[in-house]
Amino acid sequence: SNAELVPAADLVTEALERCRQQADSKHITIASGGVDDLSVWGNRAQLAAALGNLVENAVNYSPPHTRVAIAGSRLRVQGGELIEIAVTDQGIGIPETDRERVFERFYRVDPARSRATGGTGLGLAIVKHVAASHGGEVQVWSAEGQGSTFTLRLPEPSSARDRHLAARKKRDGLGGTLHEPA
Ligand code: ATP
Ligand code: MG
Repeated sequence: SNAELVPAADLVTEALERCRQQADSKHITIASGGVDDLSVWGNRAQLAAALGNLVENAVNYSPPHTRVAIAGSRLRVQGGELIEIAVTDQGIGIPETDRERVFERFYRVDPARSRATGGTGLGLAIVKHVAASHGGEVQVWSAEGQGSTFTLRLPEPSSARDRHLAARKKRDGLGGTLHEPA
């Protein structure tokens, strides 16, 4: 199932590469911090697509000459730790009535307006799916006309790895030999 320890900095690099052209043309500055000593456990391509979709949205739904921030952190929660990667923009924001629905497939807040950006409405559905399949979640905070923050929260990597191995062991049968990279 292609799970590995993925440095959060790698995910940020891939997201930046994907959005650089559009960000440059809109004079949007993307800053990142807090990711250097952070890793997550999972499928590299899926995790990169998830963060890439969030950063792409931040750039797409922001006016020129604004800023996008990507912030990594460890969160202490009841019963353990979480890894959080937050993407904050100074864009158009999302009306409260739409805030839950943006994670649905093909849902777009304002199709007429959004058509200019040429999307299909699948980006956040993919983020939600990737988060859930990694034992995490995606959340949104937003103020109309001021901006939005999307957070990707994932289990602390060693606990995620344990869960992954336990699930595989169960699937493969307890008698099977487990060969895992260190
Ligand atoms: P796709 O990602 O498939 O190219 P999309 O961007 O329209 O198309 P989603 O990424 O799923 O689809 O987002 C759904 C809708 O949520 C968007 O059309 C937009 O209306 C709203 N949205 C998403 N991110 C933001 C954001 N950062 N700021 C404001 N609105 C947003
Ligand atoms: Mg999108």
